[in-house]
Amino acid sequence: MLEHDVIIIGGGLAGCRAAVEIARTDPSLNVAVVAKTHPIRSHSVAAQGGMAAALKNVDPEDSWESHAFDTVKGSDYLADQDAVAILAQEAPDVVIDLEHMGVLFSRLTDGRIAQRAFGGHSHNRTCYAADKTGHAILHELVNNLRRYGVQIYQEWYVMHLILVDNQARGVVMFHLLDGQIEVLRAKAVMFATGGYGRVYNTTSNDYASTGDGLAMTATAGLPLEDMEFVQFHPTGLYPVGVLISEAVRGEGAYLVNSQGDRFMANYAPSRMELAPRDITSRSIAYEIRAGRGIGGGPFVYLDLRHLGKDKIMSRVPFCWEEAHRLVGVDAVTQPIPVRPTIHYCMGGIPVNLEGQVRSGKDNLVEGFFAAGETACVSVHGANRLGSNSLLECVVYGKRTGAAIAQYVQNRQLPSVDEQHYITAARQQIQALLEQPGKYRINQVRQAFQDCMTEYCGVFRTQELMRQGWEKIAELQQQSMEIFLDDKGSCWNTELVEALELRSLIVVGQTILASALHRQESRGAHFREDYPQRDDGKFLQHTMAYHSPAGVDIHYRPVAITMFEPQERKY
Ligand SMILES: Cc1cc2nc3c(=O)[nH]c(=O)nc-3n(C[C@H](O)[C@H](O)[C@H](O)COP(=O)(O)OP(=O)(O)OC[C@H]3O[C@@H](n4cnc5c(N)ncnc54)[C@H](O)[C@@H]3O)c2cc1C
Repeated sequence: MLEHDVIIIGGGLAGCRAAVEIARTDPSLNVAVVAKTHPIRSHSVAAQGGMAAALKNVDPEDSWESHAFDTVKGSDYLADQDAVAILAQEAPDVVIDLEHMGVLFSRLTDGRIAQRAFGGHSHNRTCYAADKTGHAILHELVNNLRRYGVQIYQEWYVMHLILVDNQARGVVMFHLLDGQIEVLRAKAVMFATGGYGRVYNTTSNDYASTGDGLAMTATAGLPLEDMEFVQFHPTGLYPVGVLISEAVRGEGAYLVNSQGDRFMANYAPSRMELAPRDITSRSIAYEIRAGRGIGGGPFVYLDLRHLGKDKIMSRVPFCWEEAHRLVGVDAVTQPIPVRPTIHYCMGGIPVNLEGQVRSGKDNLVEGFFAAGETACVSVHGANRLGSNSLLECVVYGKRTGAAIAQYVQNRQLPSVDEQHYITAARQQIQALLEQPGKYRINQVRQAFQDCMTEYCGVFRTQELMRQGWEKIAELQQQSMEIFLDDKGSCWNTELVEALELRSLIVVGQTILASALHRQESRGAHFREDYPQRDDGKFLQHTMAYHSPAGVDIHYRPVAITMFEPQERKY
């Protein structure tokens, strides 16, 4: 059996930042990072537009309080305000710390870190490295893992969380290279496994964003929080769905409909294209519904032409390249076709301010921590502001790392029945390889993704979601009857896809059940049958417990420490 003091599942920004903090706090600790990709291929590398922090380099009027207010308002008042205060207060320090690690942020002419406008932020506070910010940060963090002697298990797929007597004791994983199965035990287990964009059929997320960490947590009997809040990013490149960063609108691009109107004037006149994402995505969807998509089709235009070639090529070169390479549009001379695309999960594994996982309203799980997109410390509530996610990964990755370094002091390694878990994992894999099956993975996955998109997308109703629930039950049955062509043990990506399909379905069911129970509209969750926000009943966090029998919904209170909820207008 493999052993470490701490194991972190996930080599993106949150996992790497936590690992660095543990090693810095107590260099004697033996820390490992496990990832199904190479860490540098984690989804974080794709982050484009930047990371918010009230550095005041461009806007001296900015403050952490203003950042906190924008975040809480953006969240439609569902964010936990104690968590938001930490996020905004610690932001400037974590940016400077990254700079000291070697991250090459873009600069002002006087040499200070540049900051740009972003949706829902009332000041120019987003620090960036052109439109490749995630790339710049992740590369430095991974270099630092090596510097601090963190062991990396790359291309190992974690398939099971070992949770016994309310204590996380380790994980079961298999090596993509040769199918070897191992149990890894530790004094503390941290999940930093990212989001679940692949639950839907059009997404800006990479192929690895299948919600495995969420599904493993739910399957272990623990709750998932606020899963109904699924972020649609307004500007997915049509028709492929990859992201055209909000940085493009931050630099001044317009959204226009088939009549050439900047239609955001009708929906968010004070913020226009830089309204929060939930509002901007719904506005685009309304325009398309009203037949004002370009040529009556399912997209509008993002127009950068007035920015000029120099600005486009220096500030958002990657977005230009994406549009050019993927749909043949030269954004210097042509508008880019866009429509909303699934982008981010506001909910996740519920954690306290130290990143320790909650087993319910008042209780914690021993030895289990989470941070980053997979976690819900609830700084985003019902809608995340752009450039607050990288920040969350770094602030809460660091904080969780520090908490873990303290937690494991003087603890023994837990006991684990290695043979039991190895046998169970072998049997699960063998069964998948050998079952005759009727359906191809791709067929079931596509039908499932289409179903989630159709029945639990931008606009939701009770009736629609109930139909979706029935269809998913059928698809879940089909997912038990898939067959695999590849029976081998070397780089069997089909096997990984089969396991990921199970994750997707658990996550999808939890989203749908949480959305069905929330009979109000708040942030990204828009119910046409309940179009108003209802603070009386639903100013609460959903806690969803998934089991083979269904999904049980409970609620827990929101921490309101600074700003009383108000009507949200832009
Ligand atoms: C295109 C795009 C652009 C974005 N731009 C910005 C931006 O400019 N600013 C901003 O704030 N946010 C941005 N975001 C959001 C932000 O990038 C993500 O929320 C953030 O990077 C998530 O980091 P993470 O560390 O939580 O997870 P990830 O970076 O997704 O890492 C997850 C890790 O978990 C591993 N993993 C998952 N499942 C398993 C398993 N079963 N076994 C082993 N390992 C596993 C993966 O291999 C990976 O290493 C963007 C998102 C997208 C899609």
